[in-house]
Amino acid sequence: MPRAETRYYCNVCGKFYMKKELAAECEKKHLIPETVNDADYLMDDRKNQYPDSVLVHFRGGKSARYYRKRK
Ligand SMILES: [Zn+2]
Repeated sequence: MPRAETRYYCNVCGKFYMKKELAAECEKKHLIPETVNDADYLMDDRKNQYPDSVLVHFRGGKSARYYRKRK
């Protein structure tokens, strides 16, 4: 008789778990962006179209500055 397996997926990152509680914990640990502001534009960027960095505010009150990736 083949056996069935139930997997639980984190709806934020997609990682799967065999236990529902662990998937729920995974979902809770992610910081969800709410607003973005304080964009910083570089004067030495010729086009100066996109900001070099922005401040991202997350649900729950934390925030972090994100920088544009250089290639
Ligand atoms: Zn997750």
